[in-house]
Amino acid sequence: MMIWLLLLSSVPLSLMPSLPVQASAADLARYRVLGPATRVEREQVVATGAEIEAFGATGLDVLATPAQAIAIERLGFQVHKRPSSLASGEVDPAYHTYAEMVTAVEQIAVAYPNIVQLFSIGRSYEGRNLLAARISDNPTIDEAEPEALFVGMYHAREPLSGEMILDLLRMLTAGYDPNQPEAAITRLVNEREIILVFMLNPDGREYDIETGFYRYWRKNRQPDPMLEGINGTDPNRNHSYRWGGLGASSNPFSETYRGIAPRSAPEVAAIEDFVISRVISGTQQIRVAISFHTYGALVLWPYGHQGVAECGLPAADMFNIDRAVFRQLGREMARLINYTPLQSCELYQTNGDFSDWAYGTQRIFAFTFEMYPAIDQVGFGDGFYPPGSVIERETQRVRPAVLYLLEQAECPYALVAATPTRCAAVNWKIWIPHLRHEQ
Ligand SMILES: [Zn+2]
Repeated sequence: MMIWLLLLSSVPLSLMPSLPVQASAADLARYRVLGPATRVEREQVVATGAEIEAFGATGLDVLATPAQAIAIERLGFQVHKRPSSLASGEVDPAYHTYAEMVTAVEQIAVAYPNIVQLFSIGRSYEGRNLLAARISDNPTIDEAEPEALFVGMYHAREPLSGEMILDLLRMLTAGYDPNQPEAAITRLVNEREIILVFMLNPDGREYDIETGFYRYWRKNRQPDPMLEGINGTDPNRNHSYRWGGLGASSNPFSETYRGIAPRSAPEVAAIEDFVISRVISGTQQIRVAISFHTYGALVLWPYGHQGVAECGLPAADMFNIDRAVFRQLGREMARLINYTPLQSCELYQTNGDFSDWAYGTQRIFAFTFEMYPAIDQVGFGDGFYPPGSVIERETQRVRPAVLYLLEQAECPYALVAATPTRCAAVNWKIWIPHLRHEQ
């Protein structure tokens, strides 16, 4: 850590003039804040109005106005302006555009018709297909197999997350050998139904890259009905579980704008409806899920909505055994790929995100991965657009965690239950009492 500390160029913030609170986007800059290590300290940074973009063991990367940066410095933290700007960076052609992603996925599907079925979960605001793949033996038949869901690119400026889903498609197809049914990937494809959603936010992705230079666009491309122009909704704050309140913004200009209503973003409504459609005879078929983001090298699990006082304590609507399963799965996945495991609210409060919704309403063991880099692994740059040269390394790095989660999807409770055979011995639906109640 000391090495990159020395590379930082400190800005004499005390010399900067104070600005009005409602600064325009042009005033925003990216800063690294060194020092905040606890949830309370991170909340202090958030309270200045700065937006946290990534977390690390030693501090935070934030988007802030100069006035907010001064306020953060007054909290006693070191604030360093980072060299990247809102308009810098040529688009890296190593990452797939939406059209290239569709083509790449279709080519693989054609090559592996016996285990891949493509479908659409709906359309984006601008009408793009939200492309998905189901991977299983007999992929066109709904078999009684545990299902797993992996979603990429909720956020437009996180293209590595879309490459991650494509990598999973490649791993599961190239690794499938019907002549070796006991090999791990073949067995998991045969015994699971694996659903991949490649780019949940294709409109944002296209907008982010259309000039040839990255725009750092995060949200979807939905106009706010009360405002002129397109401000966009943060799809990962728009889910319909505990939407609103602290942990997301009601300001349409915020990077974490929650939207005008729960699931008002068509992309969010599409994925919620798809997941809900997997409830068969009162039993949610999807047992595990990962939503991929960048950056921070973190494995996160619900809940994010718990405030400072409640974080770490049992939530009223989470079973203790589920808390234990989340911890066990999260820690083991993080260990396998050298990420940091955390309950989401340990970072700071969020609500309306996918993982909270997927567990809070569907009892899915849903995780958020903040992929490469960790903020102190890349010196001083920001981590939204890693060079194309690391795509293969950083997506394949995550594979062991995904394979582990797929393995555990058969019975996550076996990790913590006194009687590990319980999942096999009883019907999943009966074993999870709250699903029975929701019938
Ligand atoms: Zn994200």
